[in-house]
Amino acid sequence: MKNSQAPSLKVNEIFYSIQGESTYAGLPCVFVRLTYCNLRCTYCDTTYAFYEGEDMSIEEILAQVEAFHCPLVEVTGGEPLLQKNSLLLMKTLCDRGYEVLLETGGHIDISPVDTRVKRIMDIKCPSSGEADKVFWKNIDYLTANDQVKFVIGNRVDFEFAKETVEKYRLPDICPVLFSPVFGKLENKTLAEWILESHLPVRMQLQMHKYIWPPDQRGV
Ligand code: SF4
Repeated sequence: MKNSQAPSLKVNEIFYSIQGESTYAGLPCVFVRLTYCNLRCTYCDTTYAFYEGEDMSIEEILAQVEAFHCPLVEVTGGEPLLQKNSLLLMKTLCDRGYEVLLETGGHIDISPVDTRVKRIMDIKCPSSGEADKVFWKNIDYLTANDQVKFVIGNRVDFEFAKETVEKYRLPDICPVLFSPVFGKLENKTLAEWILESHLPVRMQLQMHKYIWPPDQRGV
């Protein structure tokens, strides 16, 4: 019988796959995808996580994670920080010895997240349609443990990302990731822009979309 008092979360899916992004790309990883997002990025590839999901206690989530026997876990969404119990979930995963990554959209305060968690934070570019939602104060909270990601769809986005990187000297704080919008901006074009700019940023592709069909869920 379910304990209705136990801390719970609405979970969209839990799966085991190859980490496709960040400096952890290529490593086996368990993904805990939480439901809900209050942004509507034009390129969103996880719209199914906006509302779909089932209520699970933190212990139920941990049991499923444990079954994969993998030391790396990413809490993603949707937007994980919309559910306050995501903080407790991440803390508990850290306490149990997991290396924990968080993928967040950058529009919600990241300061309450356990400092053991590696926060991979988007800064939304203009073509996402959500650049006005960036919570800029988050930059003050970043540490060398974190990573900042720009998803770039066109030249305007690239210029915005470049100005932001330079203004806040982001590479002095943590790794900075530039990723093309899949199917919109050619990988080669972004690579050339990065090389021309001499920015010390890391280009990344969503590796899982090259291993499996790009619209496949649970990978
Ligand atoms: S923040 Fe992420 S989940 Fe939310 S709309 Fe944007 S891409 Fe989709």
